[in-house]
Amino acid sequence: MWQAASAAAELQGIQIQTGPDTTELILELDRSPEYTYFQLDNPHRLVFDLVDTQVPEQFRLVQGATALVRSVRYARRTEGVLRVVFDLKTVPYPEVLSTDAAQAHQLIIRLHKNKDLLQKVGKTTPAPPEPHTWVVALDPGHGGQDPGALGKVYGTQEKRLTLQIARRLQQALAARDDIRVILTRRTDTYVRLRHRMALARQQQADLFVSIHADAFRDHRVQGASVFVLSDKGASSEAARWLAEKENQADLIGGISLEDKEDMLASVLLDMSQSVARSNSLSVAGHVFRALQTVGKVHGQRVQQAAFLVLKAPDIPSLLIETGFISNPAEERRLRDPGYQTRLAHAIAQGIFSYFDNR
Ligand SMILES: [Zn+2]
Repeated sequence: MWQAASAAAELQGIQIQTGPDTTELILELDRSPEYTYFQLDNPHRLVFDLVDTQVPEQFRLVQGATALVRSVRYARRTEGVLRVVFDLKTVPYPEVLSTDAAQAHQLIIRLHKNKDLLQKVGKTTPAPPEPHTWVVALDPGHGGQDPGALGKVYGTQEKRLTLQIARRLQQALAARDDIRVILTRRTDTYVRLRHRMALARQQQADLFVSIHADAFRDHRVQGASVFVLSDKGASSEAARWLAEKENQADLIGGISLEDKEDMLASVLLDMSQSVARSNSLSVAGHVFRALQTVGKVHGQRVQQAAFLVLKAPDIPSLLIETGFISNPAEERRLRDPGYQTRLAHAIAQGIFSYFDNR
């Protein structure tokens, strides 16, 4: 009988813990492994190769607040080597420590925001850490030849409302200087959905917010709704991303896929997607609660749907239907600059509390 499974070390979990000056990445193993590590730039990554190590079914990823870490991925490489990749937002200054207990072993990677903290041990006044900047991609729905939904009474075009509200939201977010806003369109132009996502990825957005206004055949229906990508949408889209070689190379940077391990690629993608999904649900919850302070919301909670524009695998994304322009009263409200501003401020509050909780 083949005994290799019992001989290998097991990576049982990864924890990410953030302190004021350092972030600790903790690899939890059942014994001390041999390992090597290296750093890659553009984008910044920290890569660990654990010799003769496996990942058991009950593997846990515990991700705390992550001002430094964008995502974590792992994959089995050649002969028993497990590669763990931390995608980072800034240049890391890592320090690797390890601890041993009877049945447990931890490999602790302490990431210093600041090189001085690492090199000048004993320095009494460390420089204040650089403030982290969050990048928010605002996506005004529709545009150009695609007007979106149409209002019943005033003939309001959704594409105009979405741009107006996105601009007000941009202003509201400007209240904080640790937030940088990009817009997927600034004028009345048609932008393909995939191009909107690509723009957000290019700018390394921490959050993607798509703004829409709904229409429904029942004119009585009203209220704002908040959507995140449904599980189903996510998994079918993952398959599509995998089909595209260029996306694959981009997504799985740092891990070679030369040996056509499609299963492996799909595991990696699932991981970064599941972190993005839980963050999407979190920010959507904050925004949904904030919108309840402005007026009627539609539905009891954050909803899930397979919107194409929400399918960036690694950026927390939400879609806000600001209201139903098929409802005459709501169409009037949505055209009102004062109401647009109140909406924008509520959404901004939701985004602030999401970032503050990370
Ligand atoms: Zn729309």
